[in-house]
Amino acid sequence: TAEIVTIDGPSGVGKSTISRKVSAALGFTYLDTGAMYRGVACYLEECGVDIGDETAVAKALANLDLQLLPAKDADSDVGVIICGKDVSAVIRTPQMSMAASAVSKLQPVREKLTAMQQQAGSKGRIVAEGRDTGTVVFPEAAYKFFLDATPEERARRRVRQLHEKGQIVDETEILALTIERDKNDRERSLAPLKKADDALLIDTTEIDITEVCGRVLAAVKA
Ligand code: C5P
Repeated sequence: TAEIVTIDGPSGVGKSTISRKVSAALGFTYLDTGAMYRGVACYLEECGVDIGDETAVAKALANLDLQLLPAKDADSDVGVIICGKDVSAVIRTPQMSMAASAVSKLQPVREKLTAMQQQAGSKGRIVAEGRDTGTVVFPEAAYKFFLDATPEERARRRVRQLHEKGQIVDETEILALTIERDKNDRERSLAPLKKADDALLIDTTEIDITEVCGRVLAAVKA
């Protein structure tokens, strides 16, 4: 599909910031699929569902009412409303990152969110960001990118970002969580984190956000 851009990669690589800037530059809608997994983790926790019980998870998901709130500006996150309740701040903690990674393994969760994402992209003109947007959600997308960077650099970026949100965290702990979450995301059997064969790989370890955006936009406009 000509007007779909996908941006995948591991956590802390700068996907969200880059996707927001790229979507603004193109005049496309930004679809933060990670926010949806975070929202579902929060929802299942609130419902008190045992995530080891897929039948119970599927049942709870039937009543899920999830809405995304567009990011206020290029420096803000997408918000999430679950059943009328604003959980935008709650879903951005390191604990909720791990909880999102845990529920993202579950088949009913992936099925439900993938369908919602495809629906959101059905009219095109979107920049979808996540782990499997180029491989599973929009395999026909015209422009696919896979961003990577070393775990150490990604943990540093995460610490800086959380710090800006007023969350004081320990860098060693964030590095350990980053490595654990990547492992979960890469090794799960459903829609594992991996580069689509036809995605352009950009190693962002040594380059800044402006440079990455420039490369993405150049490829899209070429
Ligand atoms: O991108 P973000 O850090 O917000 O994603 C949170 C978690 O949601 C990821 O660690 C991953 O487990 C899951 N996720 C996913 N597929 C996506 C987007 C996110 O499994 N497309």
